[in-house]
Amino acid sequence: MSNNNSTAGQPTGMEKVVSLCKRRGFIFQSSEIYGGLASAWDYGPFGAELKRNLKNAWWRSVVHERDDMVGLDAAILMHPDTWKASGHAENFIDILVDCKKCKKRFRKDHLKGKCPECGANDFTEGRAFNLMMKTSLGAVEDQGSVTYMRPETAQGIFVNFSNILDTTHRKLPFGVAQIGKAFRNEITPGNYTFRTREFEQMEIEYFTKPDDADKCHEDWVQKRFQWYLDLGIKKENLRLRPHGKDELAHYAKACTDIEYNFPFGWSELEGIANRTDFDLKQHAQFSGKDLQYHDKVTNEKFFPFIIEPSGGVDRAALAFLADAYHEEKVEGSAKEDASRVVLRLSKALAPTKVAVLPLLKNRPEIVALAKKIKQELQKEFVAVYDDSAAIGKLYRRQDEVGTFYCVTVDVQSLEDKQVTVRDRDTMKQERVPVDNIRKYLTEKFSVNL
Ligand code: ATP
Repeated sequence: MSNNNSTAGQPTGMEKVVSLCKRRGFIFQSSEIYGGLASAWDYGPFGAELKRNLKNAWWRSVVHERDDMVGLDAAILMHPDTWKASGHAENFIDILVDCKKCKKRFRKDHLKGKCPECGANDFTEGRAFNLMMKTSLGAVEDQGSVTYMRPETAQGIFVNFSNILDTTHRKLPFGVAQIGKAFRNEITPGNYTFRTREFEQMEIEYFTKPDDADKCHEDWVQKRFQWYLDLGIKKENLRLRPHGKDELAHYAKACTDIEYNFPFGWSELEGIANRTDFDLKQHAQFSGKDLQYHDKVTNEKFFPFIIEPSGGVDRAALAFLADAYHEEKVEGSAKEDASRVVLRLSKALAPTKVAVLPLLKNRPEIVALAKKIKQELQKEFVAVYDDSAAIGKLYRRQDEVGTFYCVTVDVQSLEDKQVTVRDRDTMKQERVPVDNIRKYLTEKFSVNL
């Protein structure tokens, strides 16, 4: 259980993001007090809010704002035959080799000639290693009790195809969205939360007539790409990468990745695949159930094609954090070299929308007014109250976690019934009447929170 979560050796930009995430409570190492568990991470108070916002934004965009999508929340544990039908039992493997000199283990497809550890060129024969995490159900540990923690959420959707059709009376094309945990016994986890053994996926399985599948695939690629842009990722840091024919999974007709320019290089955020009719055919064969779609107009029965946009919540969160991270000089500050770190997360994603700060915490009337304002604002937004430091420090802390507005209550507020509202990005300050503060901020947040 040694800790190999070290972030030493990360590119500079990454080190800064990692340091901020720890310092400000976005991400902690799992089981840190016991020395940490390799490749497992806990989301702290701000990370938990960020992830919730991310998942809500996704759900809203792919379920609530469409007429052709429904949601699902399937179990992590599934009947073991699922993994035979899906091909995971047989094909979800990496080929591993050991360096005979230093005994280190590598993925064969990651090796370029010599051992990256000791430089030798003497490896064992490749051995197949299945990435699924095995577990056993119930008190008796025998072959019959073995199943797996799902390596993707998708299969939960395929096996519920008939249930969803029967209960919602959908017509093609329609899709099912799901967010949930997935587990893979990755050989080389790393790059912080980018590749871990436990992670969360946001997946869509979109069922369509075979003839419409190519067009549908292209539509989803564009829609999913735009979603990242709409939530604030800089365009120059996002690109599409269509897979070459030699890269495609055996069942896929086409696949395009959405990649983000992480500090450690361009890497996959989400893959959008045309899975053909492979999945439903396989499950029909293995379960013996009729999983064909019956078109009542033409009276045809057929297996729909499936378009699958499949993204990682953790990878998306990391991309949004890296993209939002800014260090900048503070203009007009008394100190020559004053600078600040500011997390320019979009309004929808910012973990806290408003912080209410009393200028003097030893003045009970100021504290009381600040707390009253916080209670009023929390009806509308995620708002926090903080009096644990001097105002300059409080502003810096809120900037670092991406809080959009700070509302400061000072001595003057008691007389003129106005407070100061500070904008995170421009740092401009404005006096706003207390009676108007909720309306003022609601108008500022034009997006649906
Ligand atoms: P990679 O090539 O990086 O291993 P993949 O192509 O195997 O990824 P998929 O099976 O397409 O990944 O899974 C869909 C999405 O799930 C990925 O785009 C990614 O966002 C996320 N994901 C997959 N594996 C991991 C992991 N080990 N840690 C974190 N997220 C992951």
